[in-house]
Amino acid sequence: MIRTGVLAQLRFPVERSLGRRFPESLPSFRNDFQRDRDRIVHSRAFRRLEAKTQVFPAGISDHFRNRLTHTLEVAQLARTAARVLGVDEDFTEALALAHDIGHPPFAHSGEVALNKILARFGERFEHNLHSLRIVESYEHRYAMYPGLNLSFEVREGIVKHSRDLPADYTGPLAEYLPGLRPPIEAQLIDLVDEIAYNTADVDDAHEAGFFKLAELAAAVPVAAELLEEVETNFPAAEERIHLHEMQRRLIDHLMRGLMEGTIAACQSAGVDSVDAVRAWPVRLVQFTAAAAETSAALKRFLHARVYHTQILVEERDQSMQAIERLFDFLLENPDQMPEGHSSDALPRRISDYIASMTDSYFRRVYSQMEPAFTPTLRS
Ligand code: MG
Repeated sequence: MIRTGVLAQLRFPVERSLGRRFPESLPSFRNDFQRDRDRIVHSRAFRRLEAKTQVFPAGISDHFRNRLTHTLEVAQLARTAARVLGVDEDFTEALALAHDIGHPPFAHSGEVALNKILARFGERFEHNLHSLRIVESYEHRYAMYPGLNLSFEVREGIVKHSRDLPADYTGPLAEYLPGLRPPIEAQLIDLVDEIAYNTADVDDAHEAGFFKLAELAAAVPVAAELLEEVETNFPAAEERIHLHEMQRRLIDHLMRGLMEGTIAACQSAGVDSVDAVRAWPVRLVQFTAAAAETSAALKRFLHARVYHTQILVEERDQSMQAIERLFDFLLENPDQMPEGHSSDALPRRISDYIASMTDSYFRRVYSQMEPAFTPTLRS
């Protein structure tokens, strides 16, 4: 059993927030992190997650995760971890809900395509940074300021949930405390995301018929143990039920490993405050060695048996090509883009425009503009 609240002294106290860019003093029955969480849920970019592919394209099955349902799964796991550890649940939830808000259409390939295209201009695309641009400038909801005017720590968490800024960093993100780790609440998101997508991808890939349970068991020792337990307890159940019974135990194993690993790391580091967490040279949210091995084995299995299968590779190639073609068309015909207020260079504005699209909106725009493509773009 994990004792609840062991890391309560590391909780980020909401009253210590560095605050919002534009000060607000509306009375509210919610604290600042709760308000941030609600602003994210009410944003357009959040609603658009519903029509963005997570891994498996909609159309093959109605039961696959999309980026919105993935986000809800991450939020639910993240809240559990925060509550058990004793850190701020609302702060964690806000970050979980925002963690993929800047994700382009077409799963991972959208990000790869935009990054490849921007490299031609000496730039790069990264969805964490695009998330920040969305919450800072692209959402227009409020009369008094652009964006969602989120608290500093939520913006910092969006930038740093999956990577730290080196101490000598001097770029446009320099306000986000380079050289310091983000609070535990933000550190949780990356590994909880990993638990959510590994286990969900196993489920969706099994639904899509990519493998048999025995093959998963042969590749992931913990899955083998859990399957044996499940098959012994429920010999008459069908394979799909065995998978689900195995999967809930697998999530439990990984979540337990995450919480135990984090408690052990914090205790052996001797950190007793948020400032000590920030100053510690490495992240303190960690898996136990056993959970890390299970997570790595799941990842290897998914790479070998799912992510590089022909159907997904073809889908990926097609969407990357389409993104590149639309980008090049807009580069020649920038007047075809909706007017914006951004002062960025054209390649970045096109990338932001495409990154904000849902899969379905991309297809609509693409088919509207395709007749005007030059022959080289069409081929
Ligand atoms: Mg994610």
